[in-house]
Amino acid sequence: MIRIGIAGYGNLGRGVESALTTTADMKLVGVFTRRNPDTLKTKTGAPVYAMDQAKDMADQIDVMILCGGSANDLPKQTAELAQYFNVIDSFDTHAKIPEHFAAVDAACKKSGKIGMISVGWDPGMFSLNRLYGQAILPNGHDYTFWGKGVSQGHSDAIRRIPGVQDARQYTIPVEAALESVRRGENPELTTRQKHTRECFVVAKEGADKAEIEKAIVTMPNYFADYDTTVHFITQEELDRDHAGIPHGGMVFRTGTTGLNGENQHVIEYKLTLDSNPEFTSSVLVAFARAAYRLHSEGQTGCKTVFDVAPAYLHPESGEALRAKLL
Ligand code: NDP
Repeated sequence: MIRIGIAGYGNLGRGVESALTTTADMKLVGVFTRRNPDTLKTKTGAPVYAMDQAKDMADQIDVMILCGGSANDLPKQTAELAQYFNVIDSFDTHAKIPEHFAAVDAACKKSGKIGMISVGWDPGMFSLNRLYGQAILPNGHDYTFWGKGVSQGHSDAIRRIPGVQDARQYTIPVEAALESVRRGENPELTTRQKHTRECFVVAKEGADKAEIEKAIVTMPNYFADYDTTVHFITQEELDRDHAGIPHGGMVFRTGTTGLNGENQHVIEYKLTLDSNPEFTSSVLVAFARAAYRLHSEGQTGCKTVFDVAPAYLHPESGEALRAKLL
């Protein structure tokens, strides 16, 4: 039985807790939080401990799954906890992955542990599919589309506009661009041609809606480069119709083979997720199994999804997998 700890109890933490109810070979030892543990109640009744207690439980946990935020939590927590545990996180600030890798690698080399970083869907499963696509079709093009899904960062940016009470932002791929890629036309796509943005906004009483809409659609980096639609709705409508955290997207590799490039191929990997955090958590749990297995074989250091052989993710033996899935 692989013994798991959860560090941080937000959306991902709750997702890992529920994913672990479906794994016969893994069990949850406890949840660790920076908040007062007495104020948190887990969905399954798993015990809650203060984060400071974690290091005293090093011999009771095989893999600590880190569920903190990428902006402020993981850059500190992953390397820190790697002193005591095999760790795994979903760090998704793409530009800072090399820096994060180096810090976690140094901590793991010292402690003799495995630190698996940037596991989820993007980075994670999408990264793997980009790698497979390029390796198989070196003569080709990559495309990644996101959505339809909620972007937490864009929703937060709208909430910071004066006069806005609440907001939800959806990122939506442009259907015409998807179809062109699927037809193998290898289009050159601008930011505007790939995605649109749709915003559902609750305005404070008396706020100028035209001003809010203008502030949204002209916001640099977030909306100015996109075709953006703004809908004003009530708080009740937002709570009723937009409470979920759906997401997804597609990774394509289109390429040619043959001496003259005469044959065209299209690879499409598509995710349609009702719950972004629950899916991400399920990926984390599968890779936590792999982290445990790598460590059991004597490996140490920082790893990513690129370093894991697929069979290490699955609970069944190589023999069973060869018989059933090959
Ligand atoms: P949350 O904001 O829900 O949780 C982050 C941390 O905040 C928790 O670990 C918890 O730590 C603390 N926290 C949670 N709720 C509260 C609260 N009510 N009051 C005070 N503190 C709270 O983030 P998510 O779980 O949604 O996402 C975590 C990260 O996952 C994101 O930053 C994102 O970067 C990454 N991610 C990666 C993906 C990928 O594909 N690689 C996909 C989706 C997300 P504590 O218990 O210690 O207080």
